[in-house]
Amino acid sequence: MSRFFSEKYRELEPYVPGEQPQKQQQIIKLNTNENPYPPHPEVTEAVAAESRLLHLYSDTDSRDLRNMLAGLLDVSADELIMTNGSDEILNFAFMAFCDRHTPAVFPDITYGFYPVFATIDQVPYREIPVRDDLSIEPEDFYQSGGTVFLANPNAPTSLALQRETIEEILKHNSGNVVVVDEAYVDFGAESALPLIRKYDNLLVTRTFSKSRSMAGARLGFGIGNPDLIGDLNAVRNSTNPYNVNRLTSAAGVACLQYDDYNMKNCGMIMETRASYGRKLRDMGFEMPESRTNFFFARHPSISGRDLYLALKERGILVRHFDQERIRDYNRITVGTPEQMEILIENIRQILDEKKEG
Ligand code: PMP
Repeated sequence: MSRFFSEKYRELEPYVPGEQPQKQQQIIKLNTNENPYPPHPEVTEAVAAESRLLHLYSDTDSRDLRNMLAGLLDVSADELIMTNGSDEILNFAFMAFCDRHTPAVFPDITYGFYPVFATIDQVPYREIPVRDDLSIEPEDFYQSGGTVFLANPNAPTSLALQRETIEEILKHNSGNVVVVDEAYVDFGAESALPLIRKYDNLLVTRTFSKSRSMAGARLGFGIGNPDLIGDLNAVRNSTNPYNVNRLTSAAGVACLQYDDYNMKNCGMIMETRASYGRKLRDMGFEMPESRTNFFFARHPSISGRDLYLALKERGILVRHFDQERIRDYNRITVGTPEQMEILIENIRQILDEKKEG
């Protein structure tokens, strides 16, 4: 740290993303919940064509993207805001809807960026413990007195709440915003989207990173009533009005034109999840019922950290969190069936070696 670093950031513990190896080819990368399938070829074409216009700034209002998404989601364009990944809209929500008197409220086991956003935005936060089985107790979020952040499905637990449960939480927080982070919703969970016109305190956030194979392009969005979206735009236009660049915007439009391709890939990932979930359980793994593109798994005969390290040595990356309540687990992205087969084989060998050793 230099002696010039602002006092207000000295205590900051930055979010630690999963490792991004440089030599992709030898590594099986199941550590950051990316989609194993590349984007549609037309997305690549659209990016190449748009690159001729890189001397011009992008559209600050992302109108093409918002109009296409509005049609797809059956909402109006003024109920939408586009951002640089959904991390950006989450940060905007912390900035726009939390302050000294309105803390952020979220589960103790959830997306690790929430406490980081709260810290950098200098707002207090309260963590509500999940149950021992890692599920959320909805009533603990009633009358929260703060802005609620719920990843649904939750990460890294992979568990989802039903829409009616989210609705109860909304009803019991009518004086505060409830942000539902739906980064993984396309893998079989129920969206809160149909509630946005009924509850003016609901903001839904989503991403193109997972179900739409565009993690590297950084594209996310928020859906809520136009007043909430207006507040978020005030923050966006005061930080980075060109937050969605031209290449990403062109990629996003093409991606939505071929959305059947994306949804078919999600279907394949869910099938892979079902078959390899069974195989992992047969091998003794315990894991919650995943509604995401990852497993959250622990094994009675090996610690989470030892399994993570043994797999890493064999060129397979999974994610281990050194956080007390979840230290026994690893978060494992659902890859292609071929990748999962290699994973299973390696785990089998690791467990056998451990038994013999
Ligand atoms: N929410 C959750 C729960 C996540 O796991 C992630 C991915 N790390 C994000 C939001 C942010 O994803 P992105 O910024 O790529 O949209």
